[in-house]
Amino acid sequence: MPTRFFDHGSAIPAPQDASVNVARDLPLVESNKLRRVLLRSELLKKAKILEGFAYATPERNRLIGTPGHEATIAYIESIIKSYPSYYTMYKQPFEMPLGTGANLTNNDVEMEAFAVGIAPAGDVTGQLVYVPNLGCETKDFAAVTKGSIILVGRGVCKSAIKDALGSTAGAVGMLVYNNVEGNLDGYSLQKITTSEGAYVPAGGISKADGEALVARVQAGETIVAHISTTTKVTTTYNVVAETIGGDHDNVIFMSGHSDSVAAGPGVNDNGSGTISLLEVAIQLTAFSVNNAVRFAWWSAEEEGLLGAEYYVTEAPQTELDKIRLMLDFDMMASPNYAYQVYDGDGSAFGESGPAGSGEAEHEFERYFVQDAGLNFTTIEFDGRSDYGPFLAAGVATGGIACGAEGIKTVEEAAMFGGQAGVAYDVCYHSACDNASNVNVGAWIQMTKAIAHMTATFARSFDLLPPKSEQVKAKRMAYAKKMSDKATGALWGV
Ligand SMILES: [Zn+2]
Repeated sequence: MPTRFFDHGSAIPAPQDASVNVARDLPLVESNKLRRVLLRSELLKKAKILEGFAYATPERNRLIGTPGHEATIAYIESIIKSYPSYYTMYKQPFEMPLGTGANLTNNDVEMEAFAVGIAPAGDVTGQLVYVPNLGCETKDFAAVTKGSIILVGRGVCKSAIKDALGSTAGAVGMLVYNNVEGNLDGYSLQKITTSEGAYVPAGGISKADGEALVARVQAGETIVAHISTTTKVTTTYNVVAETIGGDHDNVIFMSGHSDSVAAGPGVNDNGSGTISLLEVAIQLTAFSVNNAVRFAWWSAEEEGLLGAEYYVTEAPQTELDKIRLMLDFDMMASPNYAYQVYDGDGSAFGESGPAGSGEAEHEFERYFVQDAGLNFTTIEFDGRSDYGPFLAAGVATGGIACGAEGIKTVEEAAMFGGQAGVAYDVCYHSACDNASNVNVGAWIQMTKAIAHMTATFARSFDLLPPKSEQVKAKRMAYAKKMSDKATGALWGV
């Protein structure tokens, strides 16, 4: 059985007595009115605050389980709590083991390795067996013998699948090697539980070290590996807030992740989305809504979308059915930005989302061109951020972003300015992702786009497919197709 690490609790904030709802006397929200009260100065002020949380700690980051991230969660909570007659709030706890250290030897020669989060701590010895095809399917594990340690490359499916399939085939440990340069420090299995089997201890190694070991195993050498790993179990929280006003059976869900990677303070990734959502949530309190607006600040996105996945796993289907649209915002202020809209209708990349995802894309695009007079590009709807688990559960999703480590093209430089041939964010997952990394001009536009979608769907879901049995059947068929694929995002953004 897969280990379950979690406390249980309702992920849905408790409804309050409607008599305390002062929002009913407020004017109904309108896109232009919500947009025009958003200020660049407030975005920048809050960017400095998040940077300050990171820089006040020895780690200088906002990684889950650190004081920098705990301060971020407390900050979000304090702002939402200052509107007690407008929002209910729920902190959803979950636990995960973070890797803290690993020792690895092959035939008694020491190698550099890092413990892989979520995998249990342990001390295991066994013969290395190479798993071909990146180990995403049972048949890849045909050569695995009882008591062995599997050697497998990162990619295509989450490492949780590789680890659990290896365990089911009899392996006692896993060595996963990177598919890009660099070690796998801070890596996790990226999935809290699987149906494929129990997890075994895992170590992450560099691409070069992994490929060297694969060559030796394939040449017929017998390599006995010894992996010893340690972990620290940390409790972290999703913060979920919902308007007291509005129809709670028809919810517009706006979200982004609150955590950073270990390398830096994560002000663009994803302090920017965190703050955009806070600003929209604050300004929304001057208006009433027809449909309930739910905001979530996910934890542990950088460990593999774990907070969002936990939320989806814990939510009953009846609750998921109330979410008419889930929109995700990750990296809203990239210095060399492009205005990117997720390809929800599949017109550009071939993979469409559940019914409603295409309509969300079209409204973002209509807004950019017609209302804001801005260019946009579409990006692949690949589940690489917190909308992934919702997508996989058949919920209509969408979102916008400004770009991560990808390289800006000549065409994009003509559309948006900035530098062609340079990453959208040169500080992506680096120490320099601080308050001076953000492009505030891009950031305010992205925040206004978030406000537009919030206001539009808080008023009405007329733009979306109706809530019908046929639409639900289509969404469920989509979820079934996704679960059959048994693949997931390679990493969090
Ligand atoms: Zn991110």
